[in-house]
Amino acid sequence: MNKKLYFGSNLKMYKSIKATIDYLQRLIENTKDISRDEIELFIIPSYTSLESATKNVDRNYVKLGAQNMCWEEEGQFTGEISPVMLDELGINLVMIGHSERRHVFGETDVEENLKVKAALNHNFTALLCIGETEDEKRYGISDEVLRTQLKVGLHGVALSQVGNIWIAYEPVWSIGVNGTPATADYAEKMHKVIKECLVEIFGEKALEIPVLYGGSVNPNNAKDLIVQPSIDGLFVGRAAWQAEKFDQLIREAKDTVDNQK
Ligand code: PEP
Repeated sequence: MNKKLYFGSNLKMYKSIKATIDYLQRLIENTKDISRDEIELFIIPSYTSLESATKNVDRNYVKLGAQNMCWEEEGQFTGEISPVMLDELGINLVMIGHSERRHVFGETDVEENLKVKAALNHNFTALLCIGETEDEKRYGISDEVLRTQLKVGLHGVALSQVGNIWIAYEPVWSIGVNGTPATADYAEKMHKVIKECLVEIFGEKALEIPVLYGGSVNPNNAKDLIVQPSIDGLFVGRAAWQAEKFDQLIREAKDTVDNQK
């Protein structure tokens, strides 16, 4: 059997509660026949949709995650959501350090590290997002930036927690309506840097950590990206927000991998 492929989407600040449930149910219906031993499917809706999502979708088919989380369990943190609160909902994963959190809301690597540790200590899968800006790429320091984001972001994480870490490589210049997708070659090169750094941090066990590519993934580039040896999955924004289109993208990507040899 080929390696397990990861496919997921962050719904950002889009979709009402009703639209989220409708989307999730259609996505499950469409993708049901694909064995979950072969793919891991996850969706990260808005906070306000999460509770309803946990009650209305079969988590054997789709894992649910939160878009952010405070590292404190409770306290004077107006507007924040704690790991204890997310635990009450019974969600599976927490996304940490998405490009928009870092660059629109000014989150730092040190804060992402606190969140990663809090998520892992509450037994969530921590999906740590990393990626260099356009300027950092231009200065030729992408490797250093990614290594810093990993070394600070994962600082103090125990080896026993490695099984609950996922990484998404999302170059800032590739994300969203003004983004340019990374070429498959460039993404593969950066994924290798990431995997090498993870092995430096955790040893060979780090090879279990899935590293997903995200940033303007679309039906045209998904196949080239997913066949790269160091790319374990695709983290898709806009191209995933219609269930039928995401299903099609997943199938085409998976078929390409299955027919590789
Ligand atoms: C994202 O914002 O994480 C993302 C991958 O978005 P898009 O695919 O729309 O570029």
